[in-house]
Amino acid sequence: MYYQKSSEDTLLNLNVQASNGLTQDEAKKRLEENGPNTLVEKQRKTILQMFLAQLKDTMIYILFAAAAISVILHEITDAVIILSIVVINAVIGVVQESKAEAALEALKNLSSPTAMIRRNGKVMEISASELVAGDIVILEAGRIIPADLRLLQSVNLKVEESALTGESVPVDKDANFIAAGEMGIGDRINMAYSSTSVAYGRGEGVVVYTGMDTEIGKIASMLNESVEELTPLQKRLNDLGKLLGIVAIVIVAAMFGMALLQGRDIIEMLITAIALAVAAIPEGLTAVVTIVLALGVQRMVKVNTIVRKLPAVETLGAVSVVCSDKTGTLTQNKMTVTKIYLDNQTKDVTELSFDKNTVFVKGFVLCNDASTANNERIGDPTELALLDMGKLVNVTREGLEQTNPRINEQSFDSARKLMTTVHKEDSKVMSYTKGAMDILLGRCSKIYLNGEVTEITDQHKEDINTAASEMARGALRVLALGYKEDDDTANEENLTFVGLIGMIDPPRPEAKDSVRVLEQAGITTIMITGDHKDTALAIAKDLGIAENENQCITGSDLNELTQEQLNDRVRDLRVFARVSPEHKVMIVKAFKYNGSIVSMTGDGVNDAPSLKAADIGVAMGITGTDVAKGAADMVLTDDNFATIEKAVAEGRGIYHNIKKTVLFLLSSNFGEVISMFSAIAAGLASPLQSIHILWINLITDSLPGLALGVDPKDTDIMKAKPRDPNESLFAHGGLIFTVYNGFMIAALTLGAFLWSPIIHLNAEGMAVTLENIKWMLGQTLIVNGADYSIIEHAQTYAFTTLGVSQLFHAIGMRNYDKSLFKMKMFDNKSMIAAFIIGLALQIAVTEIPILTEVFETSQLSLKEWGNLILISMVPLLSHEIIVAGKNLFGKTA
Ligand code: ATP
Repeated sequence: MYYQKSSEDTLLNLNVQASNGLTQDEAKKRLEENGPNTLVEKQRKTILQMFLAQLKDTMIYILFAAAAISVILHEITDAVIILSIVVINAVIGVVQESKAEAALEALKNLSSPTAMIRRNGKVMEISASELVAGDIVILEAGRIIPADLRLLQSVNLKVEESALTGESVPVDKDANFIAAGEMGIGDRINMAYSSTSVAYGRGEGVVVYTGMDTEIGKIASMLNESVEELTPLQKRLNDLGKLLGIVAIVIVAAMFGMALLQGRDIIEMLITAIALAVAAIPEGLTAVVTIVLALGVQRMVKVNTIVRKLPAVETLGAVSVVCSDKTGTLTQNKMTVTKIYLDNQTKDVTELSFDKNTVFVKGFVLCNDASTANNERIGDPTELALLDMGKLVNVTREGLEQTNPRINEQSFDSARKLMTTVHKEDSKVMSYTKGAMDILLGRCSKIYLNGEVTEITDQHKEDINTAASEMARGALRVLALGYKEDDDTANEENLTFVGLIGMIDPPRPEAKDSVRVLEQAGITTIMITGDHKDTALAIAKDLGIAENENQCITGSDLNELTQEQLNDRVRDLRVFARVSPEHKVMIVKAFKYNGSIVSMTGDGVNDAPSLKAADIGVAMGITGTDVAKGAADMVLTDDNFATIEKAVAEGRGIYHNIKKTVLFLLSSNFGEVISMFSAIAAGLASPLQSIHILWINLITDSLPGLALGVDPKDTDIMKAKPRDPNESLFAHGGLIFTVYNGFMIAALTLGAFLWSPIIHLNAEGMAVTLENIKWMLGQTLIVNGADYSIIEHAQTYAFTTLGVSQLFHAIGMRNYDKSLFKMKMFDNKSMIAAFIIGLALQIAVTEIPILTEVFETSQLSLKEWGNLILISMVPLLSHEIIVAGKNLFGKTA
C-alpha cells in the first residue's frame, strides 16, 4: 500500500525521478500497457433500449390503439401504415438522439479536466486521460485530482474529498506522513485521490493508480448516476403532449356520440375517429424540438460557448442580470506596472532602481509564483507583470532565488487577498507579503522609508491611502508590499510597509459595446471584483456599467448588511468591489429575490457555490479551475465578456425558433381537427384519412418545422426585453395566432374538399345543398373509361391543400412582424430546401402510382395543381396583410 511507503520508495517502485518525471517514450509505453486513465463509461443504452424508449409516449400509445382498432376492423393497410410510420419515426428519433448525444458528449470532452505534469524534465499540460502510473502531477487550488496520487510535496495543501468520502470539509494533506498500519481513505493524508479537488495550497504527487484501478473507479455505482436532463420547455411540451392525448380521447368520444345520434355506420365512424385522434396529436413535435435544441447547442460552440447543461440554452434567453468578474473578463488581463509608490513618492516605473529600491524589487519578485524562464510565461498575469517590472532592472525570480531560497509560504487566496513567501538570505530570514493595499496596510506596524524603519503613523497611512486612491482612480490596480524579518512562520501580522505598485489592465474594447447591447436588451450588467473600489469604479465608468459612486458597494459594506437589507438595495447597485467569493452567493440571492434571472461568472474554487446558486453559472474556459467548470452550466472558451452577450442572443434566438416551430406544428394539428370535426358534424365524410394526417404531421410538416428551428436569429432580437421564464409558449398572442391559423388552414382544407363535389354537382345541373354534396361524395363516375371516385378526389384536394398551405405558412412564420419582401429569403436555405422537398413529396404521393394506391389519392391535372397551389398561398397572403396592418397601426405582436 503506497500510503504505508515513503515517497522515495514509491518513486523507486514506479521507476521514476520526481525532478524529471517519465520520458515521453516511457509514458507512451505505459499508456499502451495499461490503457487510458478513464473510468469505464456508464452503461450506454443499447439501440433496442433507445428504440423502445422512443415508443414510451402517450402519443405513440394512442397510435398503437388506432392500429389495433384498424386490425379489428380488417383495415390491414391502415394498421400497417400507422405502424410503419411509428417505426420510421422511432428510427429517426434514435438516430437523432444518438447524434445529439454524441455531439453533447464531444462538448463535454472539450471541457474535461487536464493535468499539469512533469515529463522529460518539463512541465506540461495534458489531457487527464493520458496519465500513466509514474507521472509526476503538479497540484494547485481548483484542480481536480486526475488519478490516485502518492503525494511528494505539500504546501498548505487541502483537498476536498466529498466525491469519495462524503466529507465536505477539506482535508489537510501531508506528503511526509507514512502510515504505520492500515487506515481508511479519509485518514491517508499522504495520498490524493482521483475526482477529489484541491481546495487550497499546492503540491506534487506521483500517479500510483489510474482509470478503473483508482478508488473512485472501484465505486462503480457512482458512475451510473443518470444525467439526462429535460429542459423546462421539453417538460412543458411533454405535458402538452399528454394534454393533447386526453383531448384526442375526448374528441373521439364526442364524435362517437354524434355518430350514434346521426345513425351512422359504426365501423366507418371508428375509422374516422382514429383519424381524428391522430390529427389531434402533434407526432413530430418532440423529435423536432429535441433536434432544434441539439443544433442550438452546436451553434453556441461557434460563439465560444460550451453548454454543459441543456436547460441553460433556454434560461439564457431569459437572463435579466449578468454578473461578471472584472479581471480578465471585462478587462484584458494583460497587466503592466506603470506606477510605483515608495519612500512617500509616486513615480513612474521607469524610475525604479534595484540598487536604491532593493527591498521593494526583491519583495515583489520573490513573493511570486509566476515564471518567465525560457521565454515561457507561466502564471497569474498580476504576478507576471511584477516579474516584468523586475526585468526592467535586470532582476529575475530564478536569479534572486539562488541566493534567497524560499523556505515557507502562504499561497494567495482571493478571500484573504494576501500572499506571503519566506526566504533565507545569508544568515537572515526574510518574509515578504504582498496583496490588496487596504488589507495589507491594516497588518503593518512599521514603515520602511529611505532605508530606515520607523513606527507607522496615521499620517503615513493617510499618505499611502492618498497615493493608492490616486492610482486607483486612474483605473490602476494597486498592490502593496510588506516584509518581516526573522520569522519563518509566514505570519502576516506586524509587517513593515514598503511600497505600492499600480498596474494597468485595459478594458476589453468589445466589452463596452456588449454592455450597451445588453442594456438595450433590458439586461443589467453588474461588475464583481476583488479589486479596489476606486479601480473598479473607474473601469465600470469607462465601460458604461456605472455612473457614480452610489452604485458601488464593497465587501466590508456587504458584511454589515443582512440578506434582506441587500435585497432592498441591490436594484441600485452596479459594482461590487473588494468582495470575496462568499459574497457572490449573497449577491445572486438578492437579485433573484427581486425577480431577476441571474447569470454569474466565476473561475476559482470558492466560486462554485455562487455558480450553482445562479440561474446560469458561467465558468471561464482559460483561467477557470476544474472545480468552477464542473459547477457551471456554461463555459466561455475565450473568457470574454462579449461572449456572454453573444450567448444570450443565441439563447434568445433558439427559444424564439422553438416557439415558432411549436406554434407552426400545432396550428396544423388544430386545422386538421377543425376541418374533420366540422365535416363530420355536418354529416359529411371525413376530408382526410389517418394516413394523410400522419404523413403531414410526420413528414411534410416536420421539414419546414425543422427549418424554422434553425432560422438565423433576427437582427432585432436584442432589442426586446428579456422573456419571463414562466411565460407560456402561447403568450403574447401565441394562442390567438395558433387558433387563427388553425381556422384558416381548416377553412382552406374544407374548401378544397368540397370543391370537387360542387364542380360535379354544377356539371350535373344539380343544386349545391348539403344533402347533394353528401350524395355526390359517395359517387364513382366513369371518366375517360376509368373509375373516378369523387371522395378520393375530394380527399386528395384536401390532403394536398393541407400539406402545401403549411409549406407556405412556414415561410411567413419565420418572422411574424416582417413582410416576406423584407425577410432575407436566402438567410435560411433550409427553409427553401424544406419547401422544395415538401412540395416534391406532396406531388409524389398523388402522382406516383404505387404511392397513390397506398395513400388512396388520385392523380391531378396540371390545372388542378395550379389551382390548389394558389389556394394554398392564402396563409402567406394573410401574413402579408397582418404585417401591413401592424405597420399601419404601429403595433408589434
Ligand atoms: P476579479 O475578481 O475581477 O477577477 P481580482 O483579480 O482583483 O479580480 P482576486 O483575484 O480575488 O480578484 O484578487 C483580489 C485582490 O487581491 C486584488 O485586487 C489584489 O489586490 C490582490 N491580489 C490579486 N492577485 C494577487 C497575488 N497574486 N498576490 C497577492 N495579492 C493579489
